[in-house]
Amino acid sequence: MAQRWNVGGNIKAKFGNVVVKYSYVMTYHPEKCSLTIRPKIQLTFPSTFTKAKKDGLIKAWNKAIAAAFNGKWKVVPVDPNRCEQCKNGIAIRVRVKFVTSWTWTDDFEVTVHDDNVRSDVNNWHVKDKDFSATGTGGGVVHELCHMLGLEDEYVDESTYPGKKESDLPKGAKDGIMNNTSKPILDRHMEIILFNRAKLNEKLPCPTYKLAKQ
Ligand SMILES: [Zn+2]
Repeated sequence: MAQRWNVGGNIKAKFGNVVVKYSYVMTYHPEKCSLTIRPKIQLTFPSTFTKAKKDGLIKAWNKAIAAAFNGKWKVVPVDPNRCEQCKNGIAIRVRVKFVTSWTWTDDFEVTVHDDNVRSDVNNWHVKDKDFSATGTGGGVVHELCHMLGLEDEYVDESTYPGKKESDLPKGAKDGIMNNTSKPILDRHMEIILFNRAKLNEKLPCPTYKLAKQ
């Protein structure tokens, strides 16, 4: 029997005047030993976009999201002997519910724009290759990471003017929250799963840690 709960909150980001809102449904399937993170994103497209164009964008975004998140991580019980189910771990995946007709939603509303301006969580500009149907989708994954509770990471002045030092520990790897062409890192998943979604309070065994799938 699947177990489902809502995750949500707001965090004041370390830099700039930014509040990061995160919100999604989490579903744990004990029989499949899997956990699905499911945010709902309501899209408003330009009226000039055809159905084929909208479908193509959503398909490309879903593909980029699946490639970035799925089949990569699981959470495993720290002490499997104290665990009745899924002793070998619970696979993590992210599946966004994109909706295009108006519906009440407590997750996110995104306006899609047919130009190439810098995007943010609520505005995606599809002439930017990071958001286009044929590009990398790195921007989509970056904005989705905000929706799951991650802040930007400013490594140098190129991403945060006036900031000369990294806000990461010395030697820390550069990932998608600083550069949309970089991957999601383990530390990002740990923040999402344990700090934001508080998996250790929700899942059946005493304590879990992150592992590769
Ligand atoms: Zn960002």
